[in-house]
Amino acid sequence: MLTRKDFAGRERPTWCPGCGNYGILTAVQMALAKHNIAPHEILIVTGIGCGSKLPHYMRVNGFHTLHGRPVAVATGARLANHGLRVMVVHGDGDGYAEGLSHFVHAARRNINIVDLVQDNRIYGLTRGQYSPTSEQGKRTPSSPEGSIDRPVNPLALALTAGATFVARGYAGDPKHLAWLIGEALEHPGYALLDVLQPCVVWNRGYAYEFYQGRVYKLEEEADYDPGDREAAWRRAWEWGDRIPIGIFYRDPTLPTYEEQVPTLREGPPLVHRPVERLHPDQVEALLSEHC
Ligand code: SF4
Repeated sequence: MLTRKDFAGRERPTWCPGCGNYGILTAVQMALAKHNIAPHEILIVTGIGCGSKLPHYMRVNGFHTLHGRPVAVATGARLANHGLRVMVVHGDGDGYAEGLSHFVHAARRNINIVDLVQDNRIYGLTRGQYSPTSEQGKRTPSSPEGSIDRPVNPLALALTAGATFVARGYAGDPKHLAWLIGEALEHPGYALLDVLQPCVVWNRGYAYEFYQGRVYKLEEEADYDPGDREAAWRRAWEWGDRIPIGIFYRDPTLPTYEEQVPTLREGPPLVHRPVERLHPDQVEALLSEHC
């Protein structure tokens, strides 16, 4: 029986006191323990940003990649070893700006990974520039007159791209978030989990006080059906006095990418197969054909 302590790293987090990333770290550890996924059975891939330091503070396999590239690296890792659970953890800048195309293509391909986005609606690590999810008119050091851009709606975009699992959590409710992470980990296919993550230093307008009393849980709505994509689309645009969290959409029936690749379907994961070496004559034939 695993507990949260089995995933505790040796380093102490350097996040600002009160940062929403503490709640996310707790929720990830709770979910892995509850689903009995041992530290060697999970890989957490991160990009660049405050929250991307998360695997530094855990006892798991971790891969800290380039800005905007963790979904690409996670895709490669999962295809090379489809016996490994793979989770991406990165911020809204990394996921919805620098990494936007990877997000869309992973969703439409149904790559079997969890994509957890710490959405604080700001670039925190670089001291408060507006991000793809910042509201229009946001005044920041990089938009002193107010941001002109309309924000990305990650949930609507994921639904449009064909994601088979679309959810939103809240860092101020780690228990509920842990449940969502567990559901995402068990989902066969690409799972987007956008997490409302207060940045208490650079985006004080969206601190805990803003979300408390506004967030409500979709699973507590009597008539909500997460199998209804159009209903999910309508809820994805709800933002104001009421902000939905929970599973917006789930379709576990579509095949994953790896299930459709003949080489991966047959036999063990690639990493467990022997490397077949070419005979020098074969190398010579290839060189003469292509060089
Ligand atoms: Fe968290 Fe914001 Fe501090 Fe970064 S700057 S650690 S996101 S509170």
